[in-house]
Amino acid sequence: MYERTATQVRLAWFAVWLLQIEVLVKVWADNRWTEVQQGGGEAWIALGALAGLLGAFCLLTQLVLISGWPPIERAFGLDRLARMHHKNGFIGYSLIMTHVLLIVGGYSLITGQGIISQYFALTRSLPYVLLAAFAFWALNAVVLSSIVIVRRRLRYEWWRTVHWLVYAVIVLSFWHQINNGAELLGSQWLRYYWYFIYAFALSVVIYMRLIRPLLLYRRYGFRVDRVEKEADGVNSIYVTGRGLDNFRYWAGQFNFWYFWQPGLRLQKHPFTISSSPGSPYLRLTPKAVGDYTRQLAELRPGTPVLINGPFGRFSMMLSSTAPRLFIAGGIGITPLRSMIGDGVAADDVLLYCARRSADLAFRQDFDEMADKRGLTLYYVLSEEKAEGENMRYGQLDNNLLESLVPDLATRDVWLCGPPAMMRAVSRRLRYLGVPARRIHTERFEL
Ligand SMILES: Cc1cc2nc3c(=O)[nH]c(=O)nc-3n(C[C@H](O)[C@H](O)[C@H](O)COP(=O)(O)OP(=O)(O)OC[C@H]3O[C@@H](n4cnc5c(N)ncnc54)[C@H](O)[C@@H]3O)c2cc1C
Repeated sequence: MYERTATQVRLAWFAVWLLQIEVLVKVWADNRWTEVQQGGGEAWIALGALAGLLGAFCLLTQLVLISGWPPIERAFGLDRLARMHHKNGFIGYSLIMTHVLLIVGGYSLITGQGIISQYFALTRSLPYVLLAAFAFWALNAVVLSSIVIVRRRLRYEWWRTVHWLVYAVIVLSFWHQINNGAELLGSQWLRYYWYFIYAFALSVVIYMRLIRPLLLYRRYGFRVDRVEKEADGVNSIYVTGRGLDNFRYWAGQFNFWYFWQPGLRLQKHPFTISSSPGSPYLRLTPKAVGDYTRQLAELRPGTPVLINGPFGRFSMMLSSTAPRLFIAGGIGITPLRSMIGDGVAADDVLLYCARRSADLAFRQDFDEMADKRGLTLYYVLSEEKAEGENMRYGQLDNNLLESLVPDLATRDVWLCGPPAMMRAVSRRLRYLGVPARRIHTERFEL
């Protein structure tokens, strides 16, 4: 999807989202505005109900945002959706917290009980509020684990396991909403609408997480064909299947991959498709950085593979007619390998940064493309002075960038590598005159 169309689609989705919020606020105001005008405990409770309604809506939005549902994913890209998911999660959690505080505070004003005893009184007296209380504490566990993972103190797998509680939160709180929510009890229309958005959000998740990977597997029968070493700690896994020509993706996109082998089964991880569209196989090229990626080197031929994808906008779908400059740092070479393999143009330039020559993946392929297809290629090594006309030693600083690519400012740039390297190189590119809209980046992080 071209950038202008994607922007329009993004705006359209945003308008749909805002419209739903407007509907919720309007129905709430029709039912509860008089209570707000009364002031006191009633007003707190009515405002608490609004916070709860909007908080629940944000939680449902969370499911759709991170599901990868193509009509939304194609316009935003999963990395941007993941960032929106973080922000929307924060807003939703704040609203649910406000809901609990206002409702308990409101009742406490009316009955004159202390906050804590009022809280326990509410969970005992109103049906379904106990379920909502469980949901609230489960939500706190999810938020706490998310803060801890951001600080890198929790294993990713543990965080994902705790994240499953979100589904319990959504189901438990649903009964509370339809049985205690005055707006939903007061408006038949809103009740149906509420059923619909719940059914929609849960269907999208079940389809994307479960049904779609199974349908893709049934159609293509993906299997591991072989594992080949590319560089120190980096292997390529070749995946074959039936009629792979029909598996459409843009060069540079990624899949979530599940390998059906003991020890790996219950995990899905994102990896770029390092092969190019039209290849008779799909290839991924993981670098061994943790428990999971280390085990991938031991994958056995014939292992069934479930795939969910393709995802991502860092791909040839964003290309224009400008000449291309590819800049990779370390394993960030994988999407660029796919893009360059999709068709080398005579004016393409690749700057491939790594620590040592033993870390360079796909070296033979790139050397061949430079010899036979006109790719301008430089390897920039930070920890080794290697022999060779196209070898450079050091960092990709302003001087090196300018000397290797004198027409830099006229190019579209595709940049993928470690976050610190990408920040530094993006800054230098802008300093050297490349407009920000021409610098396309991919972080290996969701
Ligand atoms: C869009 C995208 C494309 C990627 N493409 C490649 C690629 O082509 N080659 C490559 O080597 N790496 C790629 N990665 C990174 C790769 O997904 C992680 O390195 C891998 O999942 C780490 O798993 P681990 O358990 O071995 O390491 P760990 O040490 O457990 O994890 C290292 C870090 O990777 C992240 N991570 C771990 N598991 C997951 C997961 N299931 N989903 C998302 N993030 C996770 C966490 O932030 C964690 O801190 C890509 C990531 C993304 C988001």
